[in-house]
Amino acid sequence: MKPAPFTYHRPLSIDEAARILSDVAEHDGRIIAGGQSLAPMMAFRVARPHHLVDINEIAALDVLTIEDAALRIGARVRHARFIPGAIAGPTGELFAKVMPNIANYSVRSRGTFCGSLAHADPASEWCALATLLDAEIIAHSVRGERRIDVRDYFDGAMSTTLAPDEIVIEARMPVLREGTRTGFYEFSRRKGDFAIAMAIVAFSVENGRITSPRVSIGGAEPYPRRIHEAEAALDGAAPDAAAFAAAADAAAAAVDPMEDAMTDAAYRRDIVRAATRRGLEQAMQ
Ligand SMILES: Cc1cc2nc3c(=O)[nH]c(=O)nc-3n(C[C@H](O)[C@H](O)[C@H](O)COP(=O)(O)OP(=O)(O)OC[C@H]3O[C@@H](n4cnc5c(N)ncnc54)[C@H](O)[C@@H]3O)c2cc1C
Repeated sequence: MKPAPFTYHRPLSIDEAARILSDVAEHDGRIIAGGQSLAPMMAFRVARPHHLVDINEIAALDVLTIEDAALRIGARVRHARFIPGAIAGPTGELFAKVMPNIANYSVRSRGTFCGSLAHADPASEWCALATLLDAEIIAHSVRGERRIDVRDYFDGAMSTTLAPDEIVIEARMPVLREGTRTGFYEFSRRKGDFAIAMAIVAFSVENGRITSPRVSIGGAEPYPRRIHEAEAALDGAAPDAAAFAAAADAAAAAVDPMEDAMTDAAYRRDIVRAATRRGLEQAMQ
């Protein structure tokens, strides 16, 4: 099937994009970034926007840098940019660990980090990572700039607190301090499919004890969240199999898993348990 007709806009600046979106948002005008979610939805006519505002010509959105101990990711940055070495330190290592699990190479070479945040698929790896790192989403509209804490950003599966005329121009997140250990594990039935559940973890080890633990679970619930019960099980514990099993059990108990035709809640809960344990083990390797 082919998309329904639409008017195509190609602004050259953030302000021009905001002005156009402000005019067309109420006529189902939408941003198109990588098009890797929106274009297939339009082809199936699940989405029928009347206007597309293409942000790919806006060079100012090409930011990928660390500034004042915060990682800045502009809205034109593709998934494939997060190769090893692209970002310094443990934050960069974690991004590079996660990136190859998203889709396939052609999707990764077009799809954008901020597009994933805007699309807000429950099983988006970047949404889970932004949650782990307590990201801030920078939204821009004709009313100016708004900073949204990731905890106030998702409000359901594929739903966010962005207004229809707001553009995500950037995501910012504090970088992990040197020496932080990180791990990522997800399970999907076929490589490149959206995950049934995933765990992303980060912690330090000081004097043989875990400090600053973070555990983010994605895919299990309508949107990712940090699981404080699992973090509490890790905090101050020795980084051993018993602590990892306790944290994995805590994560599995804390989630309220989604169900679908292929996956019931008990199965998804089991995947959360296994993913958490394996993510933690990976962080110690
Ligand atoms: C075969 C296949 C497999 C995939 N597998 C995975 C996977 O395993 N994991 C995963 O996370 N994703 C997966 N995806 C989705 C892919 O990662 C998309 O790139 C991503 O979800 C959306 O980014 P995009 O830049 O392509 O956004 P687009 O498709 O351009 O837009 C998606 C939505 O977000 C809005 N939007 C985009 N950018 C902005 C912005 N800056 N401000 C405001 N709104 C915006 C659009 O209006 C639209 O509603 C897969 C896609 C395909 C086709």
